[in-house]
Amino acid sequence: MRKIIERVKKGEIQKIIIIKLDRVSRRIVDFAMLLKTLTEYDCALISLTENFDFSTTWGKLIASVLIIFAEYELDQATDRTRVALVEIAEQGKYPYGGNVPVGFKRTEDNFLVIDDKKADTIRDLYRMIAEHRSCNSIALEYDREKKLDMSWTADKIAKIIRNTIYKGNFYYERINKFYEEFCTALVSDELWDMANAHIDKVSRVPTHTYLFYNIVFCNRCKRLTVQETTSKKNKIYYYYKCTNCDNRINENRIVNQIYMILMMIYENEDKNPYYQNEKSKIISKISRLKQMIENYYRMVIDEETTLQEYRDFKIKTENTIVDLEAKYKELSTKDERIAKDPFSALDKDIKAELISRNIKKIEVDLHTKKVVSIIQNGGIKK
Ligand SMILES: [Zn+2]
Repeated sequence: MRKIIERVKKGEIQKIIIIKLDRVSRRIVDFAMLLKTLTEYDCALISLTENFDFSTTWGKLIASVLIIFAEYELDQATDRTRVALVEIAEQGKYPYGGNVPVGFKRTEDNFLVIDDKKADTIRDLYRMIAEHRSCNSIALEYDREKKLDMSWTADKIAKIIRNTIYKGNFYYERINKFYEEFCTALVSDELWDMANAHIDKVSRVPTHTYLFYNIVFCNRCKRLTVQETTSKKNKIYYYYKCTNCDNRINENRIVNQIYMILMMIYENEDKNPYYQNEKSKIISKISRLKQMIENYYRMVIDEETTLQEYRDFKIKTENTIVDLEAKYKELSTKDERIAKDPFSALDKDIKAELISRNIKKIEVDLHTKKVVSIIQNGGIKK
């Protein structure tokens, strides 16, 4: 039957004649799904015993009614599976398909256990954050080293730190329920709390990141300026001040004058290889999952598996696909923002990191507030 379906899909078969309807499939749902496929590919089905031709107007009507009933039954099955998913979580099994949190692996019967190959990296992460290292600096380091063969962002790290699964507790978002002692803890409660306290602290207080840390010089005094901030109405202003002549310049005034150079620096560095890579990975993953669903369906037709198993698999897989599609969308909006004004769209710490990698020295006339020269790593500009 599978071979026939394949040929129908290729458009090689326009008509299937069978002796008796019950030879095609014993279950009405399966039969309706088969009819649906045949309708989609414009293939007629004629049964000799029942004297029935599904390509006639009357036959098409019967077919569509069958399909509606079958789909209704599948929907019911979906609801039942949702209930089943809750039961799975109650048993301490991880209810999500796809990837498990980094540092864990999935046993055959869906329990989460510690992945010894990755766990230490996660523990180090918690320790470093608890010792007040910033997510961003760790992200840059891990990403450069391609730690655990994955890409790292400050966001990803913060999410890991905030995930209670690492102290053994699982929050099941879909049903808004919390399971304590769900799996073996990867870090102690104390370490988890310390790391989270730090994340809470830095996300509440704005960080004082200077774009041009220790590279702005007073052109008249030939001295390195010092950084200072003032805040007005909850807004922070960044200045570079010469303690000798007591003049200063606002950071934005420097940015405006050297914006083209900053753009060039940005474009010279690899352009978002991370997002592009991540997006294409998602696309191929989605198409792989869709293919898997189709293969599974063929197994039902060939009676190699039960319809129930197929449904469970389909629902689980489709949930994963929905998650992936949401992630893809998120990355796309980020891309759009970057395309409009690439440099401005970057996070400030990323900008600062980019600048410190590429610019050695900026000389400024603090009286006229003009940038006089920029020395890049490997050449003089302006
Ligand atoms: Zn000066």
